[in-house]
Amino acid sequence: MASSFKRTDFHNHIVYDRELRGADLGLFIETASRRLGRGGYVGVVDYHGCDGNARESKFEILSDRLKRTLYNPRKIGGAALWIPGKDLTLVRVIESEVSQGDVLTIGLDAGEAVPTSRGLTLDHALRSIKEVHPTAPIVLDHLFGKCGTGPYIEQNEHLLEGGLVQGLEVRNRLAIGLPIQMKWDPNGAGERYYMDLRNRKPNIQVGATFGTDGYYEKAVGAFWSEIEIASGEEMESSEMLRQELTRAISSAIEIRGHATWPSYYGVAHHGFDMIKNMGLRRVIKQLLTGK
Ligand SMILES: [Zn+2]
Repeated sequence: MASSFKRTDFHNHIVYDRELRGADLGLFIETASRRLGRGGYVGVVDYHGCDGNARESKFEILSDRLKRTLYNPRKIGGAALWIPGKDLTLVRVIESEVSQGDVLTIGLDAGEAVPTSRGLTLDHALRSIKEVHPTAPIVLDHLFGKCGTGPYIEQNEHLLEGGLVQGLEVRNRLAIGLPIQMKWDPNGAGERYYMDLRNRKPNIQVGATFGTDGYYEKAVGAFWSEIEIASGEEMESSEMLRQELTRAISSAIEIRGHATWPSYYGVAHHGFDMIKNMGLRRVIKQLLTGK
């Protein structure tokens, strides 16, 4: 397979609504393709960690709705869609929440879940996921933002050895510095931690990624990182895709990408949507208690 540097943004929810009601998928794909260019990879997240592991099947809904369009996507097993005209790959991602924060599992087939729950420790969750899905890459998202596992990882770096984790999302567009969060500059902290880790443990097989964590169609691709990977065009099965993603993400040891300041607009947008869906009382409770 021919691999080259390609732009990837593995962390997108498209819209807050879990049925994708009212989502403009054309706008989502056009924006992703413009920002990421040919060969780009976009993660479409199923499940949302911070609101109680609500079940979602956005990837299936997306596949279904795109089938009948001129994008004419080709399925890569049940784990991804490759759009020929754009050379863009949309890959299914699961974001799940465990006791120390959130975890992204990339490239599982539609219908496949991760064996985690809120009460599990990160150690237990990572081992359980790898037991069932040994080839699916795991990325720890918004490392030092809200629901990030960074502070725990700092104390438990052995978890980054032995192939349990393939990537650390060091920059996330929604990780803003607020007193309720763990750091004033979570993204700076993520990048500094990663560089320090590389210096101390140069042989570690964990790459650095950036993710948008977008909740509206035009957010996709605002943050991206470049990794050396083959195009979705070459993937003949979801297993082949998972193996290539695992290899590529864990090899992304130079931080290369595009990230601006975290988006306060994005955070406010997310906040209003949460209030609309969950009610103000639950949102305030969640901000204060994390539950
Ligand atoms: Zn997310």
